[in-house]
Amino acid sequence: LPGRIFEVAASPMPGGGAVAVLHDITRIEQMERTQREFVANVSHELRTPLTSITGYVETLLDHEDSLSPQAREFLSTIHKNATRMNRLTEDLLVMARVESSEQELHPAAVRADMLVRDAVQAMSGMVQDEEAVLRIGEATDCEVYADQDAVVQVLSNLIENAIKYGKPRPEEPSRVLVSVKAEIEGVEFRVQDFGQGIASEHQSRIFERFYRVDKARSRESGGTGLGLAIARHVVETQGGTIRVESELGTGSTFIFTLPRASSGAI
Ligand code: ADP
Repeated sequence: LPGRIFEVAASPMPGGGAVAVLHDITRIEQMERTQREFVANVSHELRTPLTSITGYVETLLDHEDSLSPQAREFLSTIHKNATRMNRLTEDLLVMARVESSEQELHPAAVRADMLVRDAVQAMSGMVQDEEAVLRIGEATDCEVYADQDAVVQVLSNLIENAIKYGKPRPEEPSRVLVSVKAEIEGVEFRVQDFGQGIASEHQSRIFERFYRVDKARSRESGGTGLGLAIARHVVETQGGTIRVESELGTGSTFIFTLPRASSGAI
């Protein structure tokens, strides 16, 4: 039927043949699109007032000397929360954009080891040695067929999480090891930390939107619970997979694969 979208569920019949059931999912698709557009619009509309709030609070905090201790404390709290809301609206916008395929991806053959170097270098510049130590492990010179910016975005996201959640003890820096190598099924990127790890019951759920193992801790470190959902979407729309291997008390390794350039370019 023109203009309608169907989902096909086929089941084999004993003695040969098959039954196919068509579900009309046009309405569901439309509702999801409306919901995505709504979230994108609201996030977009919130941006301007939030930028204004943050700007004024920062100006006031710049003149700390003229403030009473209580005013300073209240303004700092407003600033912290406005910053959090800013991050949330930005993440919601990115999420809506990637889910609606509005974020245009430009896949090409790119050197995987270069992507790792770019991401590690960018993130290293943002942390102090006592906060985290980033290292590149095995980095095979191979080509991946993917959108360069999108892969760096996913890598940066995973590295940021490894820094945030990868401290073996609160006073110790997070050690993060990033590597890449060519495998038969594609190019495999790994981001490993040696932190507290993730209990098995949470491992399959952390890629869901807004799912956080420890809400308070995530909130404190500026988390929104959207980072891994965005990463999964970006990887899967490019024909890849993402997963986590983790053990409590030992650390976590996030692994994602993307097609190799030779197979992707065919
Ligand atoms: P957030 O903004 O909360 O960091 P994410 O989607 O990036 O959201 O991650 C979801 C949750 O997964 C986090 O709140 C945290 O509980 C858990 N998590 C992610 N990365 C790690 C990691 N490297 N080690 C331990 N827990 C992690």
